[in-house]
Amino acid sequence: MVKIGVLAVQGDFEAHGRALGRLGAEPVWVRTPADLEGASALILPGGESTTMLKLLEEGGLFEAIRGFAARRPLLGTCAGAILMAREVSRPAQRSLGLLDIAIERNAYGRQLDSHIATLDPPEAFTTRAGPGPVEAVFIRAPIIRRVGSEAVVLLGHRGDPVLVEQGRHLAATFHPELSDDGRVHRLLLDKAGER
Ligand code: GLN
Repeated sequence: MVKIGVLAVQGDFEAHGRALGRLGAEPVWVRTPADLEGASALILPGGESTTMLKLLEEGGLFEAIRGFAARRPLLGTCAGAILMAREVSRPAQRSLGLLDIAIERNAYGRQLDSHIATLDPPEAFTTRAGPGPVEAVFIRAPIIRRVGSEAVVLLGHRGDPVLVEQGRHLAATFHPELSDDGRVHRLLLDKAGER
């Protein structure tokens, strides 16, 4: 059974564990650098990115994750995507810089603070992940304001990218772990299998 690390210092890591279980993968809770050993990929969940960042820096995980990311794929969702971005605004904060994207926190404003959208996926997504609409749960979500030339947009919503891929990494501004649709997690598992 493929082991997928899930950062478990704060946020909705348990929902990711259930999503992985539905796909026959084994979640491994990551709380220390040693927990990364044996994991084929890593998920950075949603939550509060400032709190997560502080815990990563205190526990030595910040550098350990950067090292892991140089070899293995990562999926960041919502706060996890914020941690992976190169540039973070509103307010600015340090990040892992794994994806050449600029991301603005809590960017949907009051009315759309939390919402569920049904996305009509482009071919870039369906050819890899399979056909059919994608339910996307947004919770105090960020918006990706700039995508570098090496990043590919796999899903969009209201004209903004919401699932981006760059090399071995994926980042979503929504919460695929809160829907039964396993396609986004399946993309990570496919990448974890690419050696
Ligand atoms: N608003 C959070 C942040 O800025 C992210 C919200 C989430 O992960 N659902 O870190």
